[in-house]
Amino acid sequence: MFKDEQNFTRFEKRVFLATPRMHGEELEYINEAFEKNWITTAGDNVNELEKYAAGYLGVRHAVGLASGTAALHLAIKLAGEKLYTGLRPGASLEGKKVFCSDMTFDASVNPVVYEGGEPVLIDTEYDTWNMDPVSLKKAFELYPDVRLVVVANLYGTPAKLDEIKKICDEHNALLIEDAAESLGASLNGKMTGTFGDINIISFNGNKIITGSSGGMLLTESITDADKTRKLSTQAREDAPWYQHEELGYNYRISNIIAGIVRGQFKHLEEHINLKREIYERYKEGFKDLPVTMNPFSKEAVPNYWLSCLLIDKEAMCRQVRDEKKALYIPEKGKSCPTEILETLSSFNAEGRPIWKPMHMQPIYRNNSFVNKDGFARAMSNAYIDEGTVSDVGMDIFSRGLCLPSDINMTHSDQEKIIEIVRNCFN
Ligand SMILES: *Cc1c(COP(=O)(O)O)cnc(C)c1O
Repeated sequence: MFKDEQNFTRFEKRVFLATPRMHGEELEYINEAFEKNWITTAGDNVNELEKYAAGYLGVRHAVGLASGTAALHLAIKLAGEKLYTGLRPGASLEGKKVFCSDMTFDASVNPVVYEGGEPVLIDTEYDTWNMDPVSLKKAFELYPDVRLVVVANLYGTPAKLDEIKKICDEHNALLIEDAAESLGASLNGKMTGTFGDINIISFNGNKIITGSSGGMLLTESITDADKTRKLSTQAREDAPWYQHEELGYNYRISNIIAGIVRGQFKHLEEHINLKREIYERYKEGFKDLPVTMNPFSKEAVPNYWLSCLLIDKEAMCRQVRDEKKALYIPEKGKSCPTEILETLSSFNAEGRPIWKPMHMQPIYRNNSFVNKDGFARAMSNAYIDEGTVSDVGMDIFSRGLCLPSDINMTHSDQEKIIEIVRNCFN
């Protein structure tokens, strides 16, 4: 079956999708926190991380928070409070529609609901696999009162952020940029995480740099930065006792975790280079297969967080998925994500399906979904036959997959992964 049968045994050590790489400085910053006894949600690591991140990204203020999700929650809350006043505490978007990326991780949509808002899901475009500006324009025609947009940069590739920002400005809407996956990526020389009115990044364990957890809110506004610091520490007022006028949260980053991130930040460029090499090796290795890699525009420099494949329509074998399981029928010269993922897994390597679009998720499938033709509804969410895909997100989910993109993977491991994938098309 394989060119060199003997070599094609299971990987002894599992090959992962993406794992952390630590360098040593992280531990020094943790030790510093121990020595000074700043084992809390304040200290030098927090302050220095905030300064460094703001400088690196070219944004005025960066506020360290417990997670990307916490950062997004506060970003959305701040936006809601700017746009709509007088709503209940903890429900700054109550009853309000918000336009959101559809093909993304659900942490980028959930915080809209935390604030009582209603996500309206915007279809994806093929050029960058992100929010489609044409569909966004359509959405504003259908719902002209909407004032808030949340856009994510999937897999480290910048969305068409310039166009999306312009559309938001034309409709007097605020833009929140979820750059959780795209730290270090840029568009026309401008860093992702700086295009929105408020922006967020994440230091979750699988991201390009990590603190084990953690995140940041990024903003040009000192008022928003101060408000974020206040809300993330239970909204204490300036008084001798615990005095509270508004609803607060315990969302601040730990000084220990900030120490890890501080050490990691120095290696961000190095991680990006390794991720780019992984992407390029896959691209070269698959150049004669009926597949393409996750695309990006020529104005964009991705951080290549995850390398993904899209199988040409003509090269897809039959695949069906219900809510929890997938089946396929093997066919000569063809393959499908299920076959490739199951084969990788049988060799002890971890790939992953494309993030299943939000409009196909049981939790959001009754929300409005807008594609380039206007108001749309997926044909059958519960049972998907690749022959019946009805929108771009569903199509990419059906034909795409994430490849092992771990910077700790060796070259020879990657060569073997390439061979395993190639073999699926035999
Ligand atoms: C990881 C991620 C988040 C959430 O970040 P956490 O730090 O894990 O809370 C949000 N949006 C996207 C697109 C992500 O990939």
